[in-house]
Amino acid sequence: MKEIDSPWLRGFQEGVKPPPEKPLRELINDLVYLPNSPEGAKYSTEAVPAHAYIWDWIEDRNVYEIDVIACVGFGKSALLEAWSTYIIGINPGDTLILGQTRDMIQDWMSSRLRKVLEASPITSGYIPKGNERNNWKKDQAMFRHMNLFTGAANMTDTQEKSMVNTGGDEAWRWDFGIIGYLRARHHGRWNRKSIILSQASVEGTEWHQDATSGKWHDLEHICPDCGEGHVFDFGNFDFKVIRDGNEEFDWPAIFETIRFVCPSCKSEFEDTEYNRRQWAKCRPVWNGNKHIPGRMTLRATFMTVWRYQWRDVIKKWIIANEEKKQGQLEKLEQIVCQDFCQFWKPPSDTPELNTNGDPYSKKEHHDGEAWEGEDFRFMTVDVQKGHFWAVIRAWKMGGASRLLWEGRVDAYENLRHLQERYGIENRFVFIDCGYKPEEVAKEARLSQTTEDTRPWNLLRGEEAREGYMKKINEKRYRRVHSDFMRSDHSEGFVYRYVKFSNLLCKDRLAAMMGEENFGIPVDASKQYHAQMQSEQKNEISPGVWRWVSKKKASAANNHLWDCEVMQVVAACLYKVLVAQEAVEK
Ligand SMILES: [Zn+2]
Repeated sequence: MKEIDSPWLRGFQEGVKPPPEKPLRELINDLVYLPNSPEGAKYSTEAVPAHAYIWDWIEDRNVYEIDVIACVGFGKSALLEAWSTYIIGINPGDTLILGQTRDMIQDWMSSRLRKVLEASPITSGYIPKGNERNNWKKDQAMFRHMNLFTGAANMTDTQEKSMVNTGGDEAWRWDFGIIGYLRARHHGRWNRKSIILSQASVEGTEWHQDATSGKWHDLEHICPDCGEGHVFDFGNFDFKVIRDGNEEFDWPAIFETIRFVCPSCKSEFEDTEYNRRQWAKCRPVWNGNKHIPGRMTLRATFMTVWRYQWRDVIKKWIIANEEKKQGQLEKLEQIVCQDFCQFWKPPSDTPELNTNGDPYSKKEHHDGEAWEGEDFRFMTVDVQKGHFWAVIRAWKMGGASRLLWEGRVDAYENLRHLQERYGIENRFVFIDCGYKPEEVAKEARLSQTTEDTRPWNLLRGEEAREGYMKKINEKRYRRVHSDFMRSDHSEGFVYRYVKFSNLLCKDRLAAMMGEENFGIPVDASKQYHAQMQSEQKNEISPGVWRWVSKKKASAANNHLWDCEVMQVVAACLYKVLVAQEAVEK
């Protein structure tokens, strides 16, 4: 009897015993104990029902590689732990698991995996003990019947040893080439199995290529009312964005409005644990893609995790879209990759002009007619050799605006006629002084009259990637423009100008151009449309972006675009747009 208890013999017996009668998706629930799990002691596919399909694929001998694009809270670690337990206890073979860094994977080995193996009866006997205890090392475990290796996802740790099983998580962070290197460790074995679990990444990464070349399965969630299945679509969530008296989001009120609406029967479901459990039930559907035989891909969004409250995702979504209005897309990318499990395609670098707003024509405003409810009207002027480009735009507080005039102007005198026709005071005229500061400063001075005693405003764009910091009551704020600067004119007078950040203002403009309330008249010139698409945002070094002219011979000039950029500066100066954001220390 004593001999039968030896792990060695038991391992041998496990290796030759007939396959278990239960399907693995059920059997696994009996076998694995997760001491750190919030679900209680045992691993259970009930916690995330979509796990069951992964077990089906693990059991399927025709499946060699499994890619799971998994959301936050999917239980990626728990799955790797349960799989390791299954390998060591039932289906042994040398195994390599990669983590993001050596420290993280070693921490996982000692603080999680070892505890699971100790707690689970099918593996506890294999843990090296007594004079073999040194066979459990920080980064590997030499069992009598197989070896388990771990490493960081870099080339030095993916050793040349031949493996039956390989796995890893958060592959979206891995360097290009690691997945290929990991898979090459199998040397084409017939019984190989590789599992990678990770959130989505930007398109073009190795993870993206690997996952999209597998047989792609989305999950259909099944309506508890009508039984119809639907692939995740965030558009099926219904909610209202409500603000309080201070224009802040009223989260409790917003959360009250959240409903998931079944697209088939239109039944509505509140964000309760019961409803989320119902909707977490799902089944995989292949999208019909071409794929590498033996490679399966599963996309598991936040709807697969009933513990994850819908309100948390909706809150993230609302905040991300608020930041998108400022041209900041990081949070949107995050929610798309982490919660929707969708690969992120950075938006076109050339801003697109949304022309779906209320239709109107420049003609309606030809003699300066007001736009109902307008609060401000700015004229912005780009200075060229011997001519100008100008834009006149009317604004309402909060940021809605209408382009009233755009085009080329040949002389300062004509600028003044235009200004008069549209009824614009000097303090609402902004002219670029980067090219001919002395001449422009002099003309601005000449614009002063007894009725309109202030001069035109002078603007100068510059790189200023970080914007301009200002301290107000111990808090730091970032602005897109500077305070007034002073300069001495060679003819003996002092003039003022304002500097602005090209990068921040162009980001802002690009974001506004995509909104319907950035008014474009139906009769805007071809020049205007061409010039507004004349620049694109390029990454000149990692993380450093710059707006540059498109390098095509046919590319239009960018003067009207520059005029619209100056409209952003003017609108910020007059606080039509939010002009400053608080900066964390
Ligand atoms: Zn339904």
